Amino acid sequence: MTHSRNTAPPIAGPAELKPGRRGFLKALGVGAGASGLTTLATAPDKANAFAYEPYATDDQLTTVVTSCAHNCGSRHMLVAHKKGDVIVRLSSDDGRYQQGGYYGKDTFEEPQLRACLRGRSYRLRVYSPERLLYPMIRVGQRGEGKFRRATWDEALTMVATKMVELKQKYGPTALLDQSYAGASYGVLHKSDQIEGLLGRFLGMFGCRTNSWSVPSYQATTFSSRMTFGTIEDGNEDDTFAHSKLIIMWGWNPAYTFHGGNTFYYMRMARQRGCKFVLVDPQYTDAASAYDAWWIPIKPNTDAAMLAGMAHYIFTNNLQDQKFIERFCLGMDARTMPRKYADRENFKDYILGKYDNTPKTPEWAAAICGVKADDITKLADLYARTKPAALKASWAPGRNAYGEQYNRMAAAVQAMTGNIGKIGGCAEGVGKG
Ligand code: SF4
Repeated sequence: MTHSRNTAPPIAGPAELKPGRRGFLKALGVGAGASGLTTLATAPDKANAFAYEPYATDDQLTTVVTSCAHNCGSRHMLVAHKKGDVIVRLSSDDGRYQQGGYYGKDTFEEPQLRACLRGRSYRLRVYSPERLLYPMIRVGQRGEGKFRRATWDEALTMVATKMVELKQKYGPTALLDQSYAGASYGVLHKSDQIEGLLGRFLGMFGCRTNSWSVPSYQATTFSSRMTFGTIEDGNEDDTFAHSKLIIMWGWNPAYTFHGGNTFYYMRMARQRGCKFVLVDPQYTDAASAYDAWWIPIKPNTDAAMLAGMAHYIFTNNLQDQKFIERFCLGMDARTMPRKYADRENFKDYILGKYDNTPKTPEWAAAICGVKADDITKLADLYARTKPAALKASWAPGRNAYGEQYNRMAAAVQAMTGNIGKIGGCAEGVGKG
């Protein structure tokens, strides 16, 4: 299949997308309730592709209000502008598509729910020449990259046969439902939960094992539970509007929101004079948009840099001691629970009392590749700016011992008293 530069590839016709549903369900012994597969049969009959030439004017287009399917936590509105069956462009909330006039006023109280760059670029995915439009069956060795095209009937029969075989041989836990990832969280499919279609389907089939949390933020989940006792530990995103400093640690809010209007509230903060910092191996669109001070860091060394910041803050007595003594356990010798007074505390660990290794900015610099001066400067800025949001995102924790990064971030957030404050930030899964 070839496509000219200005032409989107055609959507597959009905023969390519209709599965042999009855045969598949019969092979599995599942009744009509396993309706998840019906979605495969509802593809458009035919779509003649075009994109930009001639560029359609608005009066030639129809609109469909839909939503972004990414699992980032926001589910933003997307508006598909179509000519026939083909999406010509995507837009987002501009105030015209909400019923009753209750939303979309572009005010702080009632902001528009505007999709981010990733959501708005969905058209590139829908019409990507790399998108699989029909089943492929491997014919070579694993890793060889050799496949042949198969019919839906053949592919579904093969999967169904294997499912039955595995269930009979290994019992009701044999199939792992590892279905969810960043782009598989369609509103309909809700794929990481038992009420999602795949969960229900495998449940009815009587053979399903699933994981107990989301791989995307497992380190954060563990850290939040151990540190805060809950995963609902952060701030609502509208509090970013009140931050005087926002440190985007491994976080690119141009693509990843954890709430409805993160970028909007951060823009409000910028208009009010907030400073922005990015700690990340890569420069991001968000850093560009907010003119952030970029601190490149070696991957998986984040905990060391945060420890270096903690050392600077303690040795310069910049910690929020009142906050620590009121809300923290184990931050220093004074806040140890009486029963564990002789155990290690965080401050003495940072100062090197237990291992003769003070976690100085110089010590951290040798590990994470960030100059000690920059670690010091950032620590000073963070400790002296109130309120400040250290948004330690999930990505840097996707490593061996990744939870240590999240726990160190939580400790630094706590020692500066930025938890539970409007414009501050605690790290966690729920909000933040
Ligand atoms: S923030 Fe972006 S990726 Fe997430 S739902 Fe909204 S548009 Fe989609």
